[in-house]
Amino acid sequence: MSGLLRRSGYRVFARRDGYAGWTRHRNAMRAMTTQSAFEIRRQSLDALRRLLTHAFSTVPFYRDAWTAIGFAPSAHVALDDLQRLPMLTKNDLRDRKEDLISLAVPERDRHIDLTGGTTGTQTSFYRDNACRVARFGRQWGILEQCGYQPGQKRALIWGSHADLGPAHSGLSLRRALRRFASADETLCCTVMTDADMRAYHQRLCAFQPAVVYGYPNAIEQFARFIARERLKPITAGRIFCTAERLLERQRELFQRAFGGDVFNLYCSREHGCVAFECSRHRGFHVDAGSVVLEILRDGRPARPGEEGDIVITDLLNYATPFIRYATGDRATASNSRCDCGSPLPTFEALDGRTADIIHLPNGGVVAGLMLDDLFTQLPEITHAQFVQEHLTSLDVNVVVKPGTDPSIEIAMLAEIRELIGPELTIRRLGPRPDARRERC
Ligand SMILES: [Zn+2]
Repeated sequence: MSGLLRRSGYRVFARRDGYAGWTRHRNAMRAMTTQSAFEIRRQSLDALRRLLTHAFSTVPFYRDAWTAIGFAPSAHVALDDLQRLPMLTKNDLRDRKEDLISLAVPERDRHIDLTGGTTGTQTSFYRDNACRVARFGRQWGILEQCGYQPGQKRALIWGSHADLGPAHSGLSLRRALRRFASADETLCCTVMTDADMRAYHQRLCAFQPAVVYGYPNAIEQFARFIARERLKPITAGRIFCTAERLLERQRELFQRAFGGDVFNLYCSREHGCVAFECSRHRGFHVDAGSVVLEILRDGRPARPGEEGDIVITDLLNYATPFIRYATGDRATASNSRCDCGSPLPTFEALDGRTADIIHLPNGGVVAGLMLDDLFTQLPEITHAQFVQEHLTSLDVNVVVKPGTDPSIEIAMLAEIRELIGPELTIRRLGPRPDARRERC
């Protein structure tokens, strides 16, 4: 009964948050799994032609870049023609941000968001409203393929509260209703002390989640804490991992710790959730209704079994179109059909995106991913690297733009101090010209 109420409440709040119509996209995503591979390819191609035409006629960046190579979209463009187009890099996104905004999408229809920060080039971009709704719906379509329904109770082990949405803010009654409808219990993993994890364990014992969802490294810390302290096991039917690489030892640990099936998702801040494991767990299925996903090795399509760079064309975003976007992630290519029967394209494994953890002298930990978000407001810092060789100190190497005011570095160190607390000594090293924003 409470599940039904939660599902109804969830729909009400989704409408209030501007996602009216999301169920149509959820249904479209689900329907794709029953269509033929030929039909899916045809739909992707239609969506690609629409996007390329839109980008060429309304986005200065693409008009200039494609004119320079003699390319103009037409009704005869094939999926393979994508390979003729130049890549969109993270530097392009930052340095040509204004030129990448479509002139046809009015400002009132644009929603700002931030790219992921794994390479030191984090910047802002826009989504149009239709894209937000479609992405929201298709993401639920993906989660439902994995057996997770809206309204099911979820233990969330997640990053900053800014990412957690309106369920975690607002007036008390509305907030309580939202919390009931979203059915989340949240452990903010920015810093997890033993006391935090003990309190969270107590909350989950009463909450009895159906799903555990979050960063693999943070879930691992929590699972190990439960085992080390010999606490009552938390059982959950499904564990969803996202944002970081999931290691096989972590998958086994989560199955043992929570007694459930572990699903790996490929999601990013730029595109949302675009690939997922089915219950066979033999690689990823790509949501071909929302992206064209290429895996490139030395600039050519990777052969089955070869590792390469993931390049994404987002079929949904018309405000800041991402066409052949070099994500910085890596995966192993595949051309096999999954024996679950899904016709969606597949790739074998996600090979990149490992994020580590900073250990604090008091036994607490800081999710390495959180360091990426620190520099959002500090574009003068172009690259950063964090190294922890001792339990009592953290080394920080950064590269700043020439002529940057020294106060920017002071602000950066203050941000790091606020995140990790007073116990670690921060050592500012460098600048090192080869530094990258790598995590601890
Ligand atoms: Zn499958």
